[in-house]
Amino acid sequence: MKPLDDRIGVSTLCMPRIPIEEAVGRIQDAGFKAIEIVPVKVQRDSNIDYWMEYFTPTKRKEMKSLLKTFETVTVHSSSLGVNICHTDSVERQRAIYQYNAIMEFAVDIGAQIVTMHSGNAGDRHLTDKYHLDYGQTAAEYAARHNLTAGYEFFRPNVIAQIGSPHFGINFDIGHAAQRMPPSREKCTQGVLEWIEQMMPVIVEFHVHGVFIDGESMIDHQPFHRNTALDYSRIISLLIEKNYQGPLMLEIEIPSEPETTIAYCKEAKMELLRFL
Ligand SMILES: [Zn+2]
Repeated sequence: MKPLDDRIGVSTLCMPRIPIEEAVGRIQDAGFKAIEIVPVKVQRDSNIDYWMEYFTPTKRKEMKSLLKTFETVTVHSSSLGVNICHTDSVERQRAIYQYNAIMEFAVDIGAQIVTMHSGNAGDRHLTDKYHLDYGQTAAEYAARHNLTAGYEFFRPNVIAQIGSPHFGINFDIGHAAQRMPPSREKCTQGVLEWIEQMMPVIVEFHVHGVFIDGESMIDHQPFHRNTALDYSRIISLLIEKNYQGPLMLEIEIPSEPETTIAYCKEAKMELLRFL
C-alpha cells in the first residue's frame, strides 16, 4: 500500500491560467507525488479550446513521460459542457463520446483512475438509469485497460447496480459538506456518515475546505478558511477503514499558481499531521 504522502495530490483544475504542462511541473516541484489531470482547456492560447484537439498523440506521449515521477496519477473530467443524462439522445451521445475520449486519454497518459462528472435528467429515476447505462460501458472499458473509473456523485446504489470493481465514486468531501447543516459538528458528522456508507465503492476523494457564511457553505477554500469540516476525524476514518486511494486537492479555482501551490502544501501538511 502506498503511504498517504504519495496519495495526496493537486488537481490541475486549480491552475487554468497556465499551460497544463507548466502546472504539472509546478505540482512536481512542490514535492507532490500525486496529481489529477483535468484536461479541459488550455487557456493562454485561447484559440485552442478543447483538450481533444490539443492533446495529439505526441502531446499525450510527452505528458505520460512528464508524469513519470508521480506515484499516483488520476484524470478528471470537469465542465466539459455535456450532460451524460441528457434526455435528448443526440446530446447524451455527445456526452458519451467525450467521456469515452477522456477514458482513452487516461489510458494514453498512464493514469490509474479516471472520474467523470455526473449528469442530470431532471428526474431521479431517469438520471439513475442513464448513469447506470453509461457506467456499465465505462466499467467494461476500464476493466479491459486495467483502469478504475467512476462518477463524482453520491449514489452508491447506482454503483452497486453497475456491479464492477472497476467503477466507483469520486467522493467530493467539500460538496458533501454543502449538503449538511452549517455547523462544524453536524456537518462533519454528516460527511463521516456518508463516507462510511459509501466507502466500499469510493475510488477517490476530492478535498477542499468549506467556509460557513451564515446559512451558506462556500466550497474550494484553503484549509485556513475551512470552518465546516474537522479533517482530523475524516482522516481517522479513512485510516480506520483502510482507504488506499488518492486524495486530490481542489483549492481556489482559479487562482495564481503560487497561491494554489502554497494552499495545497498547507492542506497536505495538515492532513499528514492527523496521521
Ligand atoms: Zn470535485
